[in-house]
Amino acid sequence: MRIRGTTKVAMVIGHPITHTLSPVMHNVAFKALGLDGCYIALDIDPKGLGDFIKGLKATNILGVNVTIPYKEMVIEYLDELSEEAKVLNTVNTIKIADEKLIGYNTDVFGFERCLEGIDISKRSAFVIGAGGASKAVTYALCRLNINRLYITNRTEERTQSLIGFLNSLFRRNVQSIPFGQWNIIEAPDIIVNTTPIGMKGIGGEIEIPSHMIKRDAIVIDLVYNPPKTTFLEVAERLGARIQNGIKMLVYQGAASFKIWTGIDPPIEEMEKAVQEYL
Ligand code: NAP
Repeated sequence: MRIRGTTKVAMVIGHPITHTLSPVMHNVAFKALGLDGCYIALDIDPKGLGDFIKGLKATNILGVNVTIPYKEMVIEYLDELSEEAKVLNTVNTIKIADEKLIGYNTDVFGFERCLEGIDISKRSAFVIGAGGASKAVTYALCRLNINRLYITNRTEERTQSLIGFLNSLFRRNVQSIPFGQWNIIEAPDIIVNTTPIGMKGIGGEIEIPSHMIKRDAIVIDLVYNPPKTTFLEVAERLGARIQNGIKMLVYQGAASFKIWTGIDPPIEEMEKAVQEYL
């Protein structure tokens, strides 16, 4: 990659930011498409966030991804929001267009792509966690017409608040399951871990009773480091179809790339780059 005077810059902002995988996949996409662009990670101190976002209008920056802890905080500085960003009150992508800053949420799209081609309208899903990622995942499941949705979280109030949010938007059968008492429901068709349990540096293990994981169930762990958590290993052994968090990560990144450039990036090459990096 050659950086020139004409090179357009995209970036991810967060605090801290060194853990991000976004530069790995986006730079591969620029290179594969022969585009004169590059992607960097920028650590922004909280006290400078507002000035930084407002200042974007005065630059030729191609686009910005936003990660923890700024996904909600950036909203007050933006001019417009996509439907998903508005509803979820969370922005992970900013486009600078015609003197306007437009916020998007591509996590919903990223998760929907993980279930592409599967009709879930007669299926049940069990989601572990009720944080930001769970909000995008459960919103996507409801939008895809899931038949029954069970949510469990260590902090019960957060589950109730998420269920309230989903009920205000959709007419779905959503139920709270006490954390750890998961055998009170029948084995679901789809299981999604949206907590960092099992992640490198965090540790722990999702201990789900084996009869809860049926053969051919779709089991998704949003954790991508390690690529196969113990939870996924167990699910695979029991005959489930497993997916780690790389697909969602790459699909949400690809959607951001398209928002900025209008071009569909090479998903497979981006995924391979992330896998090799990990
Ligand atoms: P968040 O808003 O902070 O929510 C974290 C969730 O995990 C909460 O429900 C929290 O429960 C639960 N949790 C955390 N530690 C726990 C523990 N030790 N035991 C039980 N529950 C625990 O974070 P987030 O943005 O949702 O992100 C969650 C995970 O998803 C992270 O690992 C992140 O890397 C991953 N993620 C992946 C993708 C992808 O594209 N693959 C996208 C987004 C996020 P409490 O409410 O009780 O605290």
